[in-house]
Amino acid sequence: MGGIGLKLQIFHSGYCVADGAVVNPKEGRGKCRFYATWALLEHPKEGYVLFDTGYSFRFGEAIRHWPFRIYGLMTPYFLQKEELAIERLKTIGIDPQEVKTIILSHFHADHIAGLKDFPDSKIVSSRSGLEQALRVRSWSALGCGVLPDLLPADLEARTQVVPDEKLAPVAELENGHDLFGDGSIHLCALPGHARGQLGAYFHTASGPVLLAADAAWDLVTWQKGILPRSIVRLFFDDWKAYQGTFWALRAFHERRPDCRVLFTHSPELVEMDLEPLRNKL
Ligand SMILES: [Zn+2]
Repeated sequence: MGGIGLKLQIFHSGYCVADGAVVNPKEGRGKCRFYATWALLEHPKEGYVLFDTGYSFRFGEAIRHWPFRIYGLMTPYFLQKEELAIERLKTIGIDPQEVKTIILSHFHADHIAGLKDFPDSKIVSSRSGLEQALRVRSWSALGCGVLPDLLPADLEARTQVVPDEKLAPVAELENGHDLFGDGSIHLCALPGHARGQLGAYFHTASGPVLLAADAAWDLVTWQKGILPRSIVRLFFDDWKAYQGTFWALRAFHERRPDCRVLFTHSPELVEMDLEPLRNKL
């Protein structure tokens, strides 16, 4: 299975609050936090690669006007300045200009709000995700969870689009789109949650990892096979496809228990973020 080993660090930039019973209809109670985590990968030749960016304060500006105010009401967000992706990177000695590539799992605001802080980075997204993000306006944008104000003006010119048919299905994700042509990062399709959602599969020193974005929200709930409340279909791209991805990922994990599956908003990712801090104390 081999592959070039990448260094992986997880950070979070803010969080929003959601209803626990929506995430886990069987056991969820009260409110839960959806931390906007993102990953920093270090590739020996390609340099620093981000997988998503988390929130930035531009989210607060983008939801000031109708109909986008509804977005803010549905997902009230909390963010400290020191949590911004650029600030997080600065604290570990990385300049935003050193981030060569940003992989976008999908265009929901909590994944891309920091994008404008990286004007020099190449962006990677699925073709269908980018096309939808560039096309939608006003109510149709809201319905897709896209805030057009968060998109850089030169987004299309800077984006390396991956045709959706090149994104491997979950069952074959080890053979997904080879991003750098060296077998280090394979991109796979995680349809359902958002248009053209993609995941990244790669090797680290401590084993293989799949960044599975929002294919599920909570690791434990996914391990138990509990789907979110079906009301989410109102803002998911395709509820049936979401379920297909959810179960296919479980089948993949049964076959490949060595591969850690990381979901953006799952609480243990924040623990991974805090771990280096604890080690410093
Ligand atoms: Zn999402």
